Amino acid sequence: MKITFWGTRGSLPAPLSGRSVRRKLVNALVKGANRGLDTPEKAEAFCDEAMSFAEWSTFGGNTSCVQVDTGGTDYLICDLGSGAREFSLSALGKHGPAAPQTYHVLVSHVHWDHIMGFPFFVPAFIPGNHIRIYSCHPKFEEAIRGQSHAPCFPVEFSALPASIEFITLETGVPYEIAGATVTGMAQLHGGESFGYRIEHDGKTAVYTTDAEYKPDDYGLMDRTAAFFRGADLVIFDAMYSLAESISVKEDWGHSSNIMGVELCQMAGARQLCLFHHEPVNDDQRIQDILAETLRFEEITRSGDKLEICAAYDGLVLEL
Ligand SMILES: [Zn+2]
Ligand SMILES: [Zn+2]
Repeated sequence: MKITFWGTRGSLPAPLSGRSVRRKLVNALVKGANRGLDTPEKAEAFCDEAMSFAEWSTFGGNTSCVQVDTGGTDYLICDLGSGAREFSLSALGKHGPAAPQTYHVLVSHVHWDHIMGFPFFVPAFIPGNHIRIYSCHPKFEEAIRGQSHAPCFPVEFSALPASIEFITLETGVPYEIAGATVTGMAQLHGGESFGYRIEHDGKTAVYTTDAEYKPDDYGLMDRTAAFFRGADLVIFDAMYSLAESISVKEDWGHSSNIMGVELCQMAGARQLCLFHHEPVNDDQRIQDILAETLRFEEITRSGDKLEICAAYDGLVLEL
C-alpha cells in the first residue's frame, strides 16, 4: 500500500508567503557562506546534511487530500480538499484526457476544507471518467452539489460531463472499494465527521481527521483504540497542542499530537502521521511539534517503538 499526501493543512489553505521564502533564502545563504557551494550538487548535499526540513522545504499549504494506492487500476483518495486539484492534475498527466479512469473518493465530512477541491477536480470535467464518492456523512451529496451553485461557482454540478455517483456508507460495516476493505467510524466533531480504516493485502491505514478525543471518555478511547488496532499507519488530526486541546480549544472538534501518540500506543499501531496542520503554524513550528511528539513517544514507550512523521504536501509512505 502506498500513501501519497496531496494536502495536509486544516481549516483553509495556507500558502507559503513571499516573506517566508525570503527568510528561508537569507538563512540558507548565511548558513552556506564560505562553504564553496558553487554547483547544484554541492548545494543539494548541503541541504541534506546541514539544514533541517523546515529550512530547505515546506510542509505545504493545501487542505486534506490523501491518495491510497493498493496497486490496482482504480484510484482511491480520502477527502476533496484543495490538494485534490493537485492529485487530479497528476492523474491526468499520467493518463492524458483521452483515457477514462475510475476515481473512488472517501469523504470524512463536508466542512469546506474537505470538499473545496471538487469544483477544480479536473476529471469531473471530462466525459468517460467515473467518480464514485462515498461517505458515512448524511449530507455529503447535498454539500458537494451545493458548493457549485451560482453565485458561488460558474459551473453547476449538473453540467459536469463525468459520471458521478454518491454512495452512502454505514459505520462499522466493511465495504470493498477500489480493491481495499473500508470501514467507517463516527468521530466527535461539529457537524459530524467520520474516520476510515482501509485494509489491503495485510496492510492497514487509518484516515482519521477532524476528530476530538477526550481522555476521560473511556468508552470513546477504547472504541477508537479498537478502530486503530494494529494499524501500519494512522493519519491523525494533530491540529492543536495538548494544552490548547484541553483548555481554550476544548470542544472545537480537533485533537493533539500527544493524544495521537496515546491512542496509537493503546492500539499497538506502527506509525503515526501528524496531519491537518493548524494554518497559523509555520514550517518551523510544525517541525518543533514533530520533535516534541518524538520526545513524548520516547519517554512514554513501554513496548515497540511507534514511528512518527509529520505529513507534508508531496510525502509518500510505503506500508
Ligand atoms: Zn478540517
Ligand atoms: Zn471539520
